[in-house]
Amino acid sequence: MPAQLIDGKAIAQQVESEVRDALAKLPYKPSLVAIRVGNDPASELYVRNKARKAHELGLRGTELIFDVSMSETQLLAQVEKLNRDDDVDGILVQLPLPPQIDSKKVIKAVDPRKDVDGFHPMNVGLLHLGQRSLVPCTPAGVMRLIASTGVTIEGARAVVIGRSDIVGKPVAALLLQQNATVTICHSKTRELAAVAREADILVAAIGKPRFVTADMVKRDAVVIDVGINRVDGKLMGDVDFQNVRDVASWITPVPGGVGPMTIAMLMSNTVTAARARRG
Ligand code: NAD
Repeated sequence: MPAQLIDGKAIAQQVESEVRDALAKLPYKPSLVAIRVGNDPASELYVRNKARKAHELGLRGTELIFDVSMSETQLLAQVEKLNRDDDVDGILVQLPLPPQIDSKKVIKAVDPRKDVDGFHPMNVGLLHLGQRSLVPCTPAGVMRLIASTGVTIEGARAVVIGRSDIVGKPVAALLLQQNATVTICHSKTRELAAVAREADILVAAIGKPRFVTADMVKRDAVVIDVGINRVDGKLMGDVDFQNVRDVASWITPVPGGVGPMTIAMLMSNTVTAARARRG
């Protein structure tokens, strides 16, 4: 029997409805500010979608757009201004930034309490310590999708392919927090297919179309495909969906799997940040 689909769109809508419910109980409207520097078309689309979703759910969403020539000092001053503004609950700086700006410095400058992307070293540290923190949105979405299957994470063998700071590492930390036995694979991993085949839960975050083939997947594994690759104008994940579907028990499609979760989790993080900071 082919794997059941994990419907990211439907689960994202559940998260959004939880956000609406939480907002209805707050005496204020949390505010999210997205900073974009330059006119990268993908960033433009992401930021616009985030602001639109914020409005749709009843948050205040503002987009600050700066010229591509902006200096690092100017951007840091803008971040500082938002840090000091008591009315701002969430700050996100859309990456990538132009080459004259050190994104690490900018991420570090954001008040960790307003760091709704969960990229600040303080939040990264708390996450790895298993303490309460703002969790990066895509990894938080991945966990929610896994939870939706009802599969037991505790004691499961989980393999994450990819070790980026924004996806692979935080996903691994979250799986570990839930007592999975976690292996992280990367470009230098030997016998990757054999390692992947041990996974009860397999998360692919590589950025290579159809990298994970059916022979790399254990029967009845849960397969989460984070990859977004454009091939001949079509969106494609990191997993060979058509064939892996016959082996896995649950699988996310691309599009319609992890993708819709990211913005929903960002909205959820904004509410969490507002509540934690405002008390
Ligand atoms: P990245 O390029 O920062 O990291 C890729 C990782 O894959 C690296 O750690 C690298 O070691 C590993 N890798 C590369 N080649 C490999 C190989 N041959 N064997 C094993 N490992 C290999 O990418 P990222 O930012 O983590 O993103 C990964 C994918 O997820 C991309 O397709 C990206 O577009 C997508 N993504 C999706 C969302 C979403 O909302 N759905 C969010 C973030 C990223």
